[in-house]
Amino acid sequence: MDAQTHVRGTSGVGPKVTQSATTAFTLPPLPYAENALEPVISAKTVRLHYGKHNKGYVDTLNQLVAGTPFADMSLKELVLSTAGKPAHAPIFNNAAQAWNHAFYWHSLRAGGGGVPPRALKARIDSTFGGLEALKEELGTAATTLFGSGWAWLVLDGGKLRVVQTANAENPLAAYTKPLLVIDVWEHAYYVDFENRRADYVKGAMEKLINWDFAVENLSSA
Ligand code: MN
Repeated sequence: MDAQTHVRGTSGVGPKVTQSATTAFTLPPLPYAENALEPVISAKTVRLHYGKHNKGYVDTLNQLVAGTPFADMSLKELVLSTAGKPAHAPIFNNAAQAWNHAFYWHSLRAGGGGVPPRALKARIDSTFGGLEALKEELGTAATTLFGSGWAWLVLDGGKLRVVQTANAENPLAAYTKPLLVIDVWEHAYYVDFENRRADYVKGAMEKLINWDFAVENLSSA
């Protein structure tokens, strides 16, 4: 995929270089090809999810913040400064969805799943009693969430935890550090799995979850 076609504004690929009403939050490039997550998640799902839903959040966010002080914030600052403020709910929803999706694409990879790197595995063992127990807890969080939302592995006060968030919510405002996320909005799986969310979650955990990304986030904590 040509990342340039998805970049808005004048700052080019990557972090914003300049800040003005004409610069914009950008849709980060997918870290892999649209078909990289097959056969669990189809290229069609990724194309719709990334190219329509994810892009839609970024585009709407840019419309909402244009000409306001919010346009000069980083995406994370924007999420934190609008969280829990009903007057800013539309900005929060689109900013958080933009942040969550960028994080989600990196939480998956081709040839993922398997056993986490040793340092993370040791923490999983001591916190959850083993990898299978963590997968059980993360899977339960993902499948029992009512409606749309996200299931996360986070670092909370130095301890690993599984948390659910509804709609656009994310753990940043609770000052926990996200390590991994699974998107359980229907748009993440309905084309491939129809109503079988549990099969999508199981496939993602067994074949796609990017433990290396969790380790990167852990070590930047
Ligand atoms: Mn999504």
